[in-house]
Amino acid sequence: MKIANVEVFELEIPFDRGTKVESPKSFLKASGLDFCLIKLESDSGLIGWGEAFAYHCRPAVAAAIEHMVKPLLIGKDVRDVLGINADLQKMLHMYGRYGITMFAISGVDIALWDLLGKRLNQPIFEIFGSSGNSRVPAYASLWRYEDPELVADRVKAARSLGYGMIKLHEVGLAEVHSARDVVGPEIPLMLDTNCPWTLLEAREMVLALREYNLYWLEEPLSPPEDFSGLSYLKNETGVRIASGEHACTAFQFRDMLQKGAIDFAQPSVTKVGGITEFRKVINLCESCGVQVMPHSPYFGPGFLATLHLSQVSNTPGFVERFFVKPEANLYPEEILNPMEGNFSVPKGPGLGFDPDMDVVKTYLTN
Ligand SMILES: [Mg+2]
Repeated sequence: MKIANVEVFELEIPFDRGTKVESPKSFLKASGLDFCLIKLESDSGLIGWGEAFAYHCRPAVAAAIEHMVKPLLIGKDVRDVLGINADLQKMLHMYGRYGITMFAISGVDIALWDLLGKRLNQPIFEIFGSSGNSRVPAYASLWRYEDPELVADRVKAARSLGYGMIKLHEVGLAEVHSARDVVGPEIPLMLDTNCPWTLLEAREMVLALREYNLYWLEEPLSPPEDFSGLSYLKNETGVRIASGEHACTAFQFRDMLQKGAIDFAQPSVTKVGGITEFRKVINLCESCGVQVMPHSPYFGPGFLATLHLSQVSNTPGFVERFFVKPEANLYPEEILNPMEGNFSVPKGPGLGFDPDMDVVKTYLTN
């Protein structure tokens, strides 16, 4: 079974983040969620869907798939997913091992696994050797508001929907104070700062944040690959560090783990090198006693792939649900939303669902 065609679909879907107040410039754009979907078609007519990371870089990623990856894919044997991933990495390394190139490879890899699952008539988790029944704990991952009252409002909204764990994207103490005040001392509260500080600044902030008993502190340092800095911060203060959404391939995670930089690894399936590289990261982390907590603020095939990957390990990590409401969904709501704090894994062949083509057509930008 060979790959006969590759198509890229660029979408932008407006969403509600719980307020009309202008979004901080330091965070994602608030006009719409970017999607870069990949559709692979086999010569037997089977279709596989993937998703490449696209927030703020959608046209660049789409161009990389169209012009760099597609010519290398046509005619390849669909069954050789691992070989195709390795070949793409080899043939494209001269354009940069990480970033846009790897986002494009990641999207194609997810589509290949979907195609393979459909060919075998098995869900992807089953190909991994799992029953797919392990509990998948969900956490609400809030937008950045830089406003303690708005943070309190959104935390309450997430709690009312049954989320038992909350992550903030804030850099101010007042916002963290406000969230802890609402949830009380027991609920796990995580803080994602998105790489704002120097090591000295981070150390001061970690000491000031101690009273809020964070479950983890995510990406406190710039640049994100300052693994020695993270290791110092972790050992010096005792704070639990989570990082990895910017890391690509198991090689970068190996470096991170060797430096003792993290307590929680956060590979992102649409960036790290797809399902193929993500599985390697899980194995690597398990051999080091580090828990994987996937980065998954997605609503497309990347989110479904993350649910399947949660079944690779006996101890699925907390799966991130970006706490915004898209104007339309590519999949049924019951897949995108947790029940009593847990997601369920789609049980159909491949990823389990194809995107709703009416939604795709409505929000298409290319
Ligand atoms: Mg993050």
